[in-house]
Amino acid sequence: MSQTTIKTQSETIIGRSLGGFYTSLFVPEYKSLFDVGTAFRIGASAKNLFLSHAHADHLGALPSLLGMRGLMGVKTPLRVFLPIELSSDLPDLLDTFSKMHRWTFEVDLVPLSPGDVTHVHGDLWVRAIRTLHPVPSLGYVLFRRIKKLKVEYMELPGPEIGRLRRSGNEDMFNVIERKEFAYLTDTLPDVLLGNPDIFDVRTLVLECTFLNEKKSIQNARAGCHIHLDELLPFIGEFKNDSVVLMHFSQLYSPDEVREIFDDRCPAEQRSRFQLLLPNSNQWWD
Ligand SMILES: [Zn+2]
Ligand SMILES: [Zn+2]
Repeated sequence: MSQTTIKTQSETIIGRSLGGFYTSLFVPEYKSLFDVGTAFRIGASAKNLFLSHAHADHLGALPSLLGMRGLMGVKTPLRVFLPIELSSDLPDLLDTFSKMHRWTFEVDLVPLSPGDVTHVHGDLWVRAIRTLHPVPSLGYVLFRRIKKLKVEYMELPGPEIGRLRRSGNEDMFNVIERKEFAYLTDTLPDVLLGNPDIFDVRTLVLECTFLNEKKSIQNARAGCHIHLDELLPFIGEFKNDSVVLMHFSQLYSPDEVREIFDDRCPAEQRSRFQLLLPNSNQWWD
């Protein structure tokens, strides 16, 4: 079972996603995995896992992934960012696996509530946001905290700026947040109403499980998933450089997903969107 690679302006997104079956994306630029409903070798080198919720198609392959890390000799425990409600159940699950394997499945948990902000690495931070699903769930917005020279210092000659910078004069800078990447899956589309800054994140990964009348909006909402009919009214709002849609239902073949989306997405917005699909017309087995 291989995976698909999508290039955005700043990231490489490697993974596979089929609604209800498996979702896992690896983004090497952030050394991070997003969900682990399926495990693949390149993803096992990640330092961080952002877990959206505990449905099996998003979490079920965690022991496989940790096993791969053991074989690959990765010594540092995987750091797992997860909804706070799962922070005692997940260790219980891994303890059981550890007992059965006679080998310790170790992770480093970072439990989060909606609104929490925590450091990832370097200038990269994450903000957790509440997604809308029948079980505890979170979306994640990765952003960088960047120092920008204040306007009043911009006129100074370069060497003078360098001297002040070396002197540790922090007053010279404003710290700004540059929103790089958001991961929102298994959610009602109402999450977009509650978090309008999502439309400005450079790269947005968003679920779009259902695409046409094969599933009614009502039934899509009952399972707390996004239907394209409910996304299209927002379509002019997306200012992101890239929007990657994923988690399509197996009601559609990959070619049907491409055809329906090409048909329904307004032409002026189409180039902004990429679809996480196999290159062929067969879902990843
Ligand atoms: Zn799912
Ligand atoms: Zn789910």
